[in-house]
Amino acid sequence: MSLTHTTSQELFQRAQQSIPGGVNSPVRAFRAVGGQPLFLKSAKGAFLYDEDGNQYLDMINSWGPMILGHAHEIIEKAVRDALPGSLSFGAPTKREVEMAELIISMIPSVEKVRMVNSGTEATMSAIRVARGYTNRDKIIKFEGCYHGHGDSFLIAAGSGAVTLGVPDSPGVTKGVANDTLTAPYNDLAAVQTLIDANPAQIAAIILEPVVGNMGLVPPAEGFLQGLRDLCTKEGIVFIFDEVMTGFRLARGGAQELFGVTPDLTTLGKIIGGGMPVGAYGGKKEIMNAVAPAGPVYQAGTLSGNPIAMSAGLAALTYLNEHVEVYTQLQQISDKLVTGTKKNMQELGMNYTLNQVGSMFSLFFTEQPVTDFASAKTSDLQLFGKYFHEMLQRGIYLAPSQFETLFVSAAVTDELAEQYLTANREAIQAIKA
Ligand code: PMP
Repeated sequence: MSLTHTTSQELFQRAQQSIPGGVNSPVRAFRAVGGQPLFLKSAKGAFLYDEDGNQYLDMINSWGPMILGHAHEIIEKAVRDALPGSLSFGAPTKREVEMAELIISMIPSVEKVRMVNSGTEATMSAIRVARGYTNRDKIIKFEGCYHGHGDSFLIAAGSGAVTLGVPDSPGVTKGVANDTLTAPYNDLAAVQTLIDANPAQIAAIILEPVVGNMGLVPPAEGFLQGLRDLCTKEGIVFIFDEVMTGFRLARGGAQELFGVTPDLTTLGKIIGGGMPVGAYGGKKEIMNAVAPAGPVYQAGTLSGNPIAMSAGLAALTYLNEHVEVYTQLQQISDKLVTGTKKNMQELGMNYTLNQVGSMFSLFFTEQPVTDFASAKTSDLQLFGKYFHEMLQRGIYLAPSQFETLFVSAAVTDELAEQYLTANREAIQAIKA
């Protein structure tokens, strides 16, 4: 079996003449796994189709948003219905109010919310608000967490930044870098040390409550609550970056799953149903610092875009009214994970498999993966080979070890079996 990718290869050659690295977001370039990216043409349900007509079972789902599968009828209808209105007004709409009210009803810690256009905008804005609100400059983030490409976050960053070897990006000023303090994930003592060394100077602690951007890494028992307690004690704004986990790990995100309440939450991906949307929200008294209610400036020509709001509202409404989707996602993900573990054990491979709900990562290391340092013990060469063996078998995985997979509700039992057969064959092939 060998899929051909001639058209994708031609397009990639062309793309490199006009787009930096041929892609509009770095990790798409397959740099970490070698080879050339596929150029996609369409998708439906659990499947992607590339320009050469190959079909793939999609385990990335646009890096999270397509939780219901591709081209979901309800979301597409909402977009079609919205089209005869206008693509953009740049003025308030009823839909934005409905969106805000729905988010607030699903995530109780969010009392007020502002819509933006991406996860990056959401985190950049949340940090600015935290700084404005506390009148402090420094923030604490965790090594290997990714919060978008805002300057403050490109210090020890995960995702594509680490995949491409630039966790501390050139172009970020020393001043900004000095205001970003970093600690290892799951290390509460390290956070305490940073706070002690910078008394009354920390505006915010931001983290992925479940990390997807160094591969999947769950929070250790007590870690989130420990941070919550430290923030309360020190007057630090506690920010959950739920761009990946929001509306995915539970109706109310990771904060519902773990029962820990942040001050601010950043959202993206699922909230747009596949359209470019982000949001940040939280406690009223903090959000009232945002212009025009307060002095912290943040704005957007296309924020609350009518088509994007329609797609997002349709996705969130569906999830809100069909909580059974989360049980279904858990069951199918458990099947994928249990089967993969069985394959790895039977074939005698060293591995660690981390899972929370419908997010999981297979690491090629026998060491538990609890932070960035342990994530990096994975055998990246082996991962690259595994990636390509799976691709040849029609399974589209994230093209980097430092990413999570996202399962969609379109994955049936039968497709899970196909995945597991491919997994077994791929592992056999890389062992050979
Ligand atoms: N935060 C997290 C946790 C993310 O995973 C991402 C993107 N994967 C972002 C922020 C940035 O979102 P965007 O790519 O929409 O700017």
